[in-house]
Amino acid sequence: MNGLMNGKRGLIMGVANNHSIAWGISKALAAQGAELAFTYQGEALGKRVKPLAAEVGSDFLLPCDVEDIASVDAVIAAIKERWGRLDFIVHAIGFSDKSELKGLYADTTRDNFSRTMVISCFSFTEIARRAAELMSEGGTMLTLTYGGSTRVMPNYNVMGVAKAALEASVRYLAADYGTRGIRVNAISAGPIRTLAGAGISDARAMLSWQQKNSPLRRTVTIDDVGNSALYLLSDLSRGVTGEIHYVDSGYNITSMPTLEALRT
Ligand code: NAD
Repeated sequence: MNGLMNGKRGLIMGVANNHSIAWGISKALAAQGAELAFTYQGEALGKRVKPLAAEVGSDFLLPCDVEDIASVDAVIAAIKERWGRLDFIVHAIGFSDKSELKGLYADTTRDNFSRTMVISCFSFTEIARRAAELMSEGGTMLTLTYGGSTRVMPNYNVMGVAKAALEASVRYLAADYGTRGIRVNAISAGPIRTLAGAGISDARAMLSWQQKNSPLRRTVTIDDVGNSALYLLSDLSRGVTGEIHYVDSGYNITSMPTLEALRT
């Protein structure tokens, strides 16, 4: 199927480099004809994002740090001025202090709890509210989550709590905006080697565990996530909203390690 996203314009938030999940999603969308705008967090990342955007035919780049709400407003204003409307957004943003992505969840500090929640969870709600104003003909919104939201994963700690709240936000936003023809979904991706992923202690061990214990016996790639995102952001999924869609080689359905893994 070709041209699934022809005529659609969307905002991609969260490309840091060519390993980013948001980059996998961007490639899949651009290959189907989508026109993309990108945000980047700070000038150093901007230098990496600019050539990537050019690869998918975009010169529409905007700085944005979601801790600074004025920068979010400026992004929305720039899109309104240049495009006048928006068909989709991708929110692939997460952050927590690395020093708390190890050890006990119980030791999470108040400051890092708040910061993690604002950047990794509430920013989606703040962006959704603003983006919805540009979706007068309906639209789609997508965020990224991880299975540490519903089950305990070592070291994921406060990010797991933030992702649980993010997933609940997806359901509430889907209910809020359904009558306006705006769909809101999340992809729960299996572990992938990225900048953010590397911040979690023992990330390598988690990758190897999922590779050995998921039904497909492999980890997922940013292109796997990109193709599923294409489905959720295109009209192919027009009956789907409020969904947490797992792209994790099936790991979430398992209840114990495989017998091969137990025997080795
Ligand atoms: P990444 O490091 O490539 O992307 C994270 C992005 O968040 C970066 O572009 C960074 O600039 C942005 N960001 C962080 N703080 C920000 C702020 N204050 N303002 C604006 N942007 C900010 O890593 P990734 O793994 O591609 O992460 C994308 C999303 O996918 C995150 O929400 C992450 O939690 C989620 N996720 C990752 C994995 C994984 O294993 N890598 C698995 C499941 C879900």
